[in-house]
Order: sequence, then structure tokens, then C-alpha cells
Amino acid sequence: MNMVTTAKAEAARKYIARGFPVMPLCWPGQDQCCGCGRGHQGKQIGKVPLTEHGSKDATLTQEGVNEYWGKWPDANVAIVIPEGYFVLDVDADRGGHESLDILQERHAKLPKTMSVITGGNGIHLWFKADGIRNTTAFAGFSGLDVRGIGGYVVAPPSIHRNGGEYAWIDESPIAEAPEWLIKLCANNHRGGAPVPKTKENWITQAMQGVNEGQRDDVCTRLAGYYLTKIPPDIVREVLYPFADRCTPPLPHTDVDKYVDSVSRKERTKGEDPNTGDKDIYHYCPPTEPAISERYKSVTESVTNLTDGQEPMKSLQSQGIENVTKEQPSVTESLSKRIEDWVKDSSGWFSYDDIDKEFGLHADNDKLNRRVIIKRLKDSGIVEQHIKNNKLYRYINTSVRLIDFKSGNKVTPIQLKYPFGIEYYFNTYPGNIIVVAGSPDAGKTAFLLNLIKMNQYDFSIYYQSSEMGKTNSKIVC
Ligand SMILES: [Zn+2]
Repeated sequence: MNMVTTAKAEAARKYIARGFPVMPLCWPGQDQCCGCGRGHQGKQIGKVPLTEHGSKDATLTQEGVNEYWGKWPDANVAIVIPEGYFVLDVDADRGGHESLDILQERHAKLPKTMSVITGGNGIHLWFKADGIRNTTAFAGFSGLDVRGIGGYVVAPPSIHRNGGEYAWIDESPIAEAPEWLIKLCANNHRGGAPVPKTKENWITQAMQGVNEGQRDDVCTRLAGYYLTKIPPDIVREVLYPFADRCTPPLPHTDVDKYVDSVSRKERTKGEDPNTGDKDIYHYCPPTEPAISERYKSVTESVTNLTDGQEPMKSLQSQGIENVTKEQPSVTESLSKRIEDWVKDSSGWFSYDDIDKEFGLHADNDKLNRRVIIKRLKDSGIVEQHIKNNKLYRYINTSVRLIDFKSGNKVTPIQLKYPFGIEYYFNTYPGNIIVVAGSPDAGKTAFLLNLIKMNQYDFSIYYQSSEMGKTNSKIVC
């Protein structure tokens, strides 16, 4: 078999060389939709295993890598977490960064360890410890999950469905997990920390497991909740840990049964008004060629319009470079400066443009910059290119969209012109008509005739630069 040499296959090879089993995942294709052709939606895109038995099909061999990435060259790369390790998964969209800050304030700063910035602006922190299981809402915190035994993480250089690339931010050796972290993993289900007040509180609490009398009811309700967001096969995976945590544990076959029955009853309706989950709004039509073709042509024309434009004007001449050197790593001021720069920009820009402008080299600065742009995007200050997700631009709110279709109908003014030229154009209120011509072409005669033809229908004010003070006095 030939050696597959795509970036993803090479990365997979690097991982197996270090003893990390890998498996191929769905990848995001055109227009942020499922690229693997199986019609994945929302959070599934770029994350679902392509092999039949998921992580059981993970490989540690060259042949395996060649087979998988030979078959699916674009497949995202997953690392199946080997025994003795776990990953703390910080999900930016669910407030994971804030949760991580609070967690570290309460306990201690986490040690330097191998870590990845996810394409969705989250972080994966790798730790060593035995026997750690998968958990969601780690220590009761929203946006913090633990991937342990049997779990997997999407690894660099995979692409997130939003276009972001997973990247190593720290390739240090994997640190031993601190005692307090291991303890929290073990105690997770008994809930050491207060649960953050969110509308998903009951979910977080329920996911920690319930007693025998409530198991079936809660399982059904959880299935109903998750089925509005993710497809049934993933819901099952999400609910197995819940089932394990119940006293006594609920059999997985029961979970399957409830998920199937709820999903038959409540087919996803396309949106969740309670949570406003955007993933559900971004619906990818896999079997509608007419619609997707039309969509494609629109996005292509956008791309064409922006091709060849200067991505950004340089601000280096205005001393930004000096400012950077004086205050190298203050996040808050970086945030303010990036925001100011963005607001002063025109056209599309990428992370690279920002890094160049602000001299960002450190991984930490690059992470901050990504979070800053995410915040600007969330608050409607910048928008992402519809097709090239690496490009952003400032939404200039001083430019208003004009809804001309709903404007009032205006009747032209019935002004008469010499030679009857009013038949060739309309004159509207507020128009300025310029009469231009070479010297002695008859411009003054034209205007005087214009006055003569209209003087009984309109008030006329005539002022000419050729008029002397006497003439001016007559007309004023
Ligand atoms: Zn897919």
C-alpha cells in the first residue's frame, strides 16, 4: 500500500509513534456542512467516527493510518485516549474558559501540560492519571468535560465545523494530574462545587445520576432534551455515563430504548426556542441539489467580490508596533487594541493579519487573539466570511441598509426644459441639475429660457457668478 502523505495522515502517524491510537472522523466540507457524505448535522460535523465500531476501530499501525486516510484523505483525526491518561475538555461555547478560571481560583493553577486549542476556541488539557472516566459538566461546571477511558478527542490538524483548525498550543510532556483534580474526577457525580445557575441546571444535576424510582423518567426527559440538539446515536453516548451513575446503574439497553422511543415521537423540529442553539439554525441540506446549488452560486459570487482585495490597511505607520512592544501581554489592552484596529479596518482580515500587526508570536497571545475575535463576532462587531472561515471583517454599523423597496413613490416634478429634453429624464425634488458646456455654448441662454418656460408654475431664484452687484440686488 502506498504511503498517504496528507497533513492529517502525517499527524496521525506522529500520534501512533507516541502510542496514541487514532481513528478517522467526519470532516467539515462545503459551507460548514458535513463533508463525509453521511449528512451529519450541527455538532456532529467533524466529530463522528467514520469507522463502523468507532473507537474500537482505532489503529496504532502504519497500515491502519494508510487504510483510513487513503480512503478518507480529508478525515479529521481523533486520538482515542489510552489507559493512564485523560483530557480536560474546555468548551468555549458553554462558558468553559470562565469555569476553568473559577476552578483554578478555588483549587490551584493547573500544571503546564500538553494542550490543544480546539477549532471552536476551546482547549484540551492532557493529564496522566489512572481510571478516569468520561464525564460531562465536570465538578458541576458547565463547559468542562472529562474524556477518559474509552473517550476520544479531536486532534490537530483537524478542522472544526466553524472552519477553525485544531492546533497544539503546548507540546510539553503530559503532566501528572494534581491530586485535587483527580479527586474532583472521582467525586464528580456527588457534586463538590455549586452548580452554575443556568437554564440547563436540571440537566447538569440530572446527569450526575438519580435513584431507582426516578431513573426511567429522568432518562426520558434527558433524551427529550438532547434529541432537540443532537442525533439519537450521540444522545445514547451522552446518556450512558448518566446511566452508569444512577443507583443502581440503568442498563444501556434501557437508554437505547428510551432514546428510540422519544426520537420517534419528537422528530427534531429544526430549532430550539428555549436555548436558541445556533447549531440547529445552521441546517445543511444534504439531499436538495437545487437549493444547495443556488446557495453555492451566492457564496461563490461573494468570494469573487472579495478576491484580490487588500485584506487590511497597515497601521504600523501609526505607531501600533511601538505600543505592542511597551505592553506585550496584557490581554485587556490587547483586546481593546485589536477592537480599535478592527473598527479602523476595511475589507477582510485573518488571524495572520492580526498577528503581524500586533507582533503576536506567543501561543498564549494567539489564543487570546482568537478568543477576542470570537467575542467581537459574538457581539456583532465582526462577521466571518460565509465561505472562507479564516476571514473576518468589521460590520460597519454607520452604513445603513436602505430598504428602497418599501420607500414611498415620488412623482417627478413637471419641469419643462428647452428643446423638450424633459422627455429623456425625470426631475425629482432635491435633484441638482448641472448644465455643463464649453464657453459661449449657450448655457446662460439655456437657463434663462428654462426660467421663462417655468416661471408661472414655480418660484424661481436665479443667482449667477457672472452677475454684478446691481443684478444680484434685483434677484435677492
Ligand atoms: Zn459527516
